[in-house]
Amino acid sequence: MSLNRDIEKLSMLDAKGHKLKIIPAEVTGHFRKYRDWTEAFLVLFFLILPWTKMNGIQTILLDIPSRKFAIFGLVFFAHDGPLLFFLLAILTIGLALLTTLFGRAWCGWACPQTVFIDGVYRRIEILTEGKYFDRRQLDRSPMSLNKFLRGSLKWFLFILVSSIIAHSFIAYFVGAEDLIKMIFADPRLNWWPFILVFSTTGALAFNFGWFREQFCIIMCPYGRFQSVLQDESSVTVAYDVARGEPRKGSADYGQKKGDCVNCFRCVEVCPTGIDIRNGAQMECIACTSCIDACDEIMVKVEKPKGLIRYSSLDGGGVKYLRARVISYTALILIAVMGLSYNIINRSPLEIFILRGKDAPYALNTAADGSLVLMNHMRLHLENQTFKEMNFKIEEPADWAPHGIHLTMPESDIHLPPGHFVMLHFFITAPRELVKGTGKFTTKLDVNGISKIFTIVGPTE
Ligand code: SF4
Ligand code: SF4
Repeated sequence: MSLNRDIEKLSMLDAKGHKLKIIPAEVTGHFRKYRDWTEAFLVLFFLILPWTKMNGIQTILLDIPSRKFAIFGLVFFAHDGPLLFFLLAILTIGLALLTTLFGRAWCGWACPQTVFIDGVYRRIEILTEGKYFDRRQLDRSPMSLNKFLRGSLKWFLFILVSSIIAHSFIAYFVGAEDLIKMIFADPRLNWWPFILVFSTTGALAFNFGWFREQFCIIMCPYGRFQSVLQDESSVTVAYDVARGEPRKGSADYGQKKGDCVNCFRCVEVCPTGIDIRNGAQMECIACTSCIDACDEIMVKVEKPKGLIRYSSLDGGGVKYLRARVISYTALILIAVMGLSYNIINRSPLEIFILRGKDAPYALNTAADGSLVLMNHMRLHLENQTFKEMNFKIEEPADWAPHGIHLTMPESDIHLPPGHFVMLHFFITAPRELVKGTGKFTTKLDVNGISKIFTIVGPTE
């Protein structure tokens, strides 16, 4: 039996390479219902998230100019390389694992490209231009007042919605509170955010309103390499060739009658315009529309549902015990352990006392002729919070009986969020303090945190 493998060109292009306008038919059914709920939740989640706070900080904040980031209450700075590395590793390998198990489930169910096009922009299109057959007719018809008015209203709503999305998107980067202030301020005072919101609105309207699934096929890097993450056991949307072929109307139909009635309903509903009966294709975003469409037909022709269904190339269900599933899971566990270790050991205030880079000690002659020991030390302070910190460094009370003194050019320190400072200080003490051992261990208190260090000198 032969399948029609028309894979010489992309489904979205005509023979000359021009874009074909794809107007998919609406579909109802089991997966459609769950996708409606998922899309509604994800759109609200994306729009509301930047306006929420955890631990008093914006839930997700990616402030690139200030190099400070907040993710669900965790605060990162650009110098927190290991934290960011482990977090990105978990997300990237997690996506690879999901693809290996369930194919392009991310594309069909959770990718913002699919969620916004399917959950928002296509609904605006239905609202302004009608169901798919009306829209197809309108698209073919010459320009008229009706077509112009409907098209104008559609693009007005596209741009309005794009502007709302753009504001929420920018809030992830500049901070929601700052964004509100910028909205009500003179645009000339905030040129860059203003241009960013303006250009993002244009880019979103173009992408979600016109470019659409072409992005998934031509530009999305994940879409390009997802095929190498899948194998014969990956579960994805597939047509059951053994059951469906020979399809009605084909040359072989008669000796054996396949269940496919060749109604093309699965092609009609496909947003990328492909025929899933031609096998796994790069354009398929696993949106499940063809499953619902075909199930609807199967019910009408009184055949079992599932001619198109979630299935693996080898025909089995989800297989968890596979080399690549185990390897990805192990890598994720390692990254989770690395992230947990870094988070547990991360303090909001980093304090180190280091020795000066010059000689470990010096002996100076005091006014009374005695020898005074001097150590040059450095104090590293790092504010790892989003709040300003003030420090007052004072000589500990137990130093006086030993004759130890602190000399520090600045003892009142003000540290902005995410900043660090290296302060030099000098310890002076009687030479006798280290006599015999050559060292004396003590501590310095910084905002209630004690840091132990050693004063060194000659043993004699
Ligand atoms: S083939 Fe089916 S699952 Fe794939 S994009 Fe088309 S309608 Fe969606
Ligand atoms: S919807 Fe089902 S029956 Fe109709 S053409 Fe597609 S696979 Fe065949």
